[in-house]
Amino acid sequence: MNTPKTIKSLITFCAIITFTVFMVACGKKGDNVETPAELAALQALVDEFAPIKVTADLSHLTEREKLLIAKLAEAGEICDAIFWQQSSHDAITVRDSLAKLTDAQSKLMLQLVNIYYGPYNKMYENKRFVGEGSPFRPPGGGFYPEDMTREEFEEHIKNNPQDKATFECLYTVIVRDANGNLKAVPYHEHYKDMEKLANLMDEAAELCDNPSLKEYLRLRAIAFRTSKYEDYFKSDWAWMDLKDNNIDVIIGPIESYEDDIFNYKTAFEAKILVKDIEATKELDMYKENIAKFQENLPWDKKYFVSAQADGTVLQIVNVVGYYGDCNKATKSIASALPNDPAVYEVRGGKKSMYKNLMEAKFEKILKPIAEILIAPDMAQYVSKKQMMRFVTLHEVAHNLGRGYVYKKPNLTVRAALKERYSPIEELKADICAVVCQKTLFDLGIISKDDMRDAMVTYVAGLFRSMRFGSQSAHGVANFIQFRYLLEKGGIEKTPDGYFTFNEEKFFEVATELAKYVLELQAEGDYQKADELVKKYGAATPEIMKEFERVKSVPRDLNSTYMY
Ligand SMILES: [Zn+2]
Repeated sequence: MNTPKTIKSLITFCAIITFTVFMVACGKKGDNVETPAELAALQALVDEFAPIKVTADLSHLTEREKLLIAKLAEAGEICDAIFWQQSSHDAITVRDSLAKLTDAQSKLMLQLVNIYYGPYNKMYENKRFVGEGSPFRPPGGGFYPEDMTREEFEEHIKNNPQDKATFECLYTVIVRDANGNLKAVPYHEHYKDMEKLANLMDEAAELCDNPSLKEYLRLRAIAFRTSKYEDYFKSDWAWMDLKDNNIDVIIGPIESYEDDIFNYKTAFEAKILVKDIEATKELDMYKENIAKFQENLPWDKKYFVSAQADGTVLQIVNVVGYYGDCNKATKSIASALPNDPAVYEVRGGKKSMYKNLMEAKFEKILKPIAEILIAPDMAQYVSKKQMMRFVTLHEVAHNLGRGYVYKKPNLTVRAALKERYSPIEELKADICAVVCQKTLFDLGIISKDDMRDAMVTYVAGLFRSMRFGSQSAHGVANFIQFRYLLEKGGIEKTPDGYFTFNEEKFFEVATELAKYVLELQAEGDYQKADELVKKYGAATPEIMKEFERVKSVPRDLNSTYMY
């Protein structure tokens, strides 16, 4: 948004938006839009997010560690502000226009805009819910010109092959130059607060007494100043080396889910975390079995690469604060990072389970869903412990399979599957997590009762995550699993309308789906990925009916971070 042309068009656009939001929100021109029914409908959309105060115990931290957290929170606020620019071209304009209005409807709309970081409803096909503009979120968000098509981008690269690297770079924005041609601008030039962000990282490093964390913060500052892949790589590498740290932080441009055109561009976020050292000790069992999980994957053995288990870090943390992408609509309860296959194929990844948020989601969402949809004799077995286990295995499974395409050592699966990568990768992680449970059972590590609890918790979990909708990678992944397993008899609906699993068929069908997805990734087969998503990756009328039954259950959390 720094080019004069874009600023000019933005100003024009702001004026239009401010006007239309005002019209819609205030109902001027004699429109009676503020009816009780409309207010109730808006309130219902807000109520889909259970308000929750997120707390983390910081009592064991030193005074300097507490100051470090405050400094990281300042950096987090900048990531949050940058994400507003990335979410959609008009997100900030709509938010700021609504903030000036005082009627009940505008206030509710503002709450929703703050939850979704913009005027598009992530839960409902990215539909616009306030003001006038594109009826659905332009798939390129704020990363590309709003009118740019995929074809135009591809055509540009065909005609200017020297631009390929900067155009496909994870850390550039695509804008139009004065002649209307496409041009790539590095993040640190495009977002004006990047230097301030880098300075805050340096100041945080000064406050830090843990040498490994200090080094990471310092290297991250460098990456923020250059937008160079090599610098992000170095800081990711240093992040894997964190040792004896009470505080962890994930900060910067991380996930590419917001770029629905190509999945190239990364969105800003910050997660400030405090390690739960006692709870983390319980995770050793998963770590010890990573090599076994990879060996037992149900795929053609020619695809086998050894899993890099040695460097893998598993940790349980409590969330102190979320900013930007990770705070939008659905709050993540775990992560497997870094995303760069050049790091995780050598080092393994770092999987973090966010304990306080996971517990909140279990109590507010998963348990109530199970009470309504799961067969009454089975619902009692849905458990917090199994939710944590499944999420842990999901994160472990992100590192199973292949990161690079078979026989194409320079082609990542991510690049080969393009915009289908994210849902397919989430699907792989889920369905391989199911297969890993079977491996643990076969190894005698978990019991038959554990397996029953795990499967019924998984089925309830599918409903929780399908409600993220088909514009979310996780939502698509869950639609595919649910519909595939239901079609093939792994999941069953009882005559009185409850869901349960079929003990005989469940693993056979799950294994079949895991094989399909692992091999599709190994081959980098875009066509197959596309077909799978199109065939199963959305709600059916039957699923919509089940959603109706659980509509009183919140979909996610509206968190306030207390520290
Ligand atoms: Zn995942």
